[in-house]
Amino acid sequence: MTVGVLALQGDFREHATVLRSLGSDVVLVRRPEELAGVNGLVIPGGESSVMDKLTRMFGLAEPLRAAVAAGLPVYGTCAGLIMLADTVLDGINGQQSIGGLDISVRRNAFGSQTASFETDLDVPVLGGPPVHAVFIRAPVVESVGPNATALATVADGRCVAVEQGNLIGTSFHPEITGEHRFHEYFLQKVRSAGFRS
Ligand code: GLN
Repeated sequence: MTVGVLALQGDFREHATVLRSLGSDVVLVRRPEELAGVNGLVIPGGESSVMDKLTRMFGLAEPLRAAVAAGLPVYGTCAGLIMLADTVLDGINGQQSIGGLDISVRRNAFGSQTASFETDLDVPVLGGPPVHAVFIRAPVVESVGPNATALATVADGRCVAVEQGNLIGTSFHPEITGEHRFHEYFLQKVRSAGFRS
């Protein structure tokens, strides 16, 4: 199984390390040709406005939209979640998203870098103990449309993890805490989708 990691910006190396440790072959995706043959894709954390700009500059935005529409399994963390949201409520500089998740997100919803925090979250779909989640200038899912499903909320009830078909998004960063269950859950989707771009 080959999983692409969008590698234009952000913490793509951390995702690649987790995916390799779980037995996947990893391709760093910077150009449309590198999407060919991947069975799934991870969009890392970083800065979504920059990632959006680079994705368009490198000619990846349309191929990514087409792949998502065709059923490519994609897991986005933080900025990656923003990239997968159909609606970004407060994008800057004409920010666009790839879309696919029937949600609206608000960027930096918990405050600035200094307001970053860690907490434990119940994620019923993963089973087992709570997920230790790190939020870094994290977005919140402000509304979940009828096609998407909330997977986890923080203590005040705000949604921070969603799925829809072959797409998963989390406001937080399992790739930096040694928490592999989200990646495993994603890889199950990759296996059962049998998608090849
Ligand atoms: N605040 C960032 C953005 O808007 C996301 C931060 C992150 O990915 N850790 O893209």
